[in-house]
Amino acid sequence: MSKPIFLIIGSDTGVGKTVLTALLTRRLRERGVRVAALKPICSGGRDDARQLHSAGGKTLALDEVNPWHFRAPLAPLIAARRESKSVNLRDVVQHIGQVNRRFETVIVEGAGGLLSPLGENFDSLDLLLKLRAMPILVCPNRLGAINQVLLVRKALPKAAAKKLQVVLVSPPRATASSRSNPTLLADLMEPSRLHVLPWLRNLQSPLTPTVQATLDALLGG
Ligand SMILES: [Mg+2]
Repeated sequence: MSKPIFLIIGSDTGVGKTVLTALLTRRLRERGVRVAALKPICSGGRDDARQLHSAGGKTLALDEVNPWHFRAPLAPLIAARRESKSVNLRDVVQHIGQVNRRFETVIVEGAGGLLSPLGENFDSLDLLLKLRAMPILVCPNRLGAINQVLLVRKALPKAAAKKLQVVLVSPPRATASSRSNPTLLADLMEPSRLHVLPWLRNLQSPLTPTVQATLDALLGG
């Protein structure tokens, strides 16, 4: 797989992975890039997959965006077992590879955090390494963010840690920690790989130049 695949990982569940994946997809489409956004595995409803389906302009079927979905709002491994189903890494990688051949760029949203069990014996870290994807970590910019970023970085093999990009998602109102986190983190990692996404009140409104620049930097210019 030579074309870029981005894997969006979260410092936790519900931290803005879907929002970022949709924004990156939208930005690439604005730039005329043929992009596919995938959420291969969903548990507890397919809302994320539907959002990415729309963000991608419905060029893929919903079942291509999200081939594996399970009803229980639990880690996918457990949710699948409740339905006597299983997901294996090889099938997920194969699916992403097939989509990758049809598009210029693929953005994959993981599920939960880096080490949340996705299926039988694998998590987002295994998926990242198998795909040789570019990791993008989404983390809310709040007290505790620095620890979460450093934990994820430490969990990655050296080569992947070097490629790691971090997006701090701003809160609606700045706090003492949201103001100081980026400064401190910039001392602890390569500053060009650290990005701050402004708070977005309305995800449907046109992207501001600041947001566009943040997304472009993440995508490598
Ligand atoms: Mg999500």
